[in-house]
Amino acid sequence: MDIDVAHFPDPKHDHRACIDAGLEAAERICQENAARFTPDRRQVLEILLRRHSAAGAYDIIESMDWGDRKRASSVVYRALDFLAENGLVHKLHSRNAFIACSHPDGVHGAQFLICTRCDRIAEIADRKVERGVIAAARVAGFTVRRPMIEIEGLCPHCGG
Ligand SMILES: [Zn+2]
Ligand SMILES: [Zn+2]
Ligand SMILES: [Zn+2]
Repeated sequence: MDIDVAHFPDPKHDHRACIDAGLEAAERICQENAARFTPDRRQVLEILLRRHSAAGAYDIIESMDWGDRKRASSVVYRALDFLAENGLVHKLHSRNAFIACSHPDGVHGAQFLICTRCDRIAEIADRKVERGVIAAARVAGFTVRRPMIEIEGLCPHCGG
């Protein structure tokens, strides 16, 4: 079976490259948006980039290097708001968790393939799916603001 490397990379892949690419993209986007990529915002994003799965706010607070400061959940929530507003992080409502965007290029809709066995998550952005959802919603008189879809199943590594 062909494993979709782009979406579900091999566990032994060079993950530092994923992290660096994510941080570089964030720096570029913040510059374009004239937004400040502060050390806290950077740290929160890096914690999310370290994994190809989602993390809850509590996990992030635990993983932060607080230095001499007292840990403050508000710092993490504000950073997450900022990162989401700039299209760098998505909230997965079904899991009350956050995931780093895998193709940050401004605010966008997305579909998430969530493996229920290993928790790996891949983000796809299929325009056809997006248009289909928008068209179906329009029939119901519903205006789609952001088509986010969370799809559960088995990833290629778990033998879907
Ligand atoms: Zn990686
Ligand atoms: Zn995204
Ligand atoms: Zn899996």
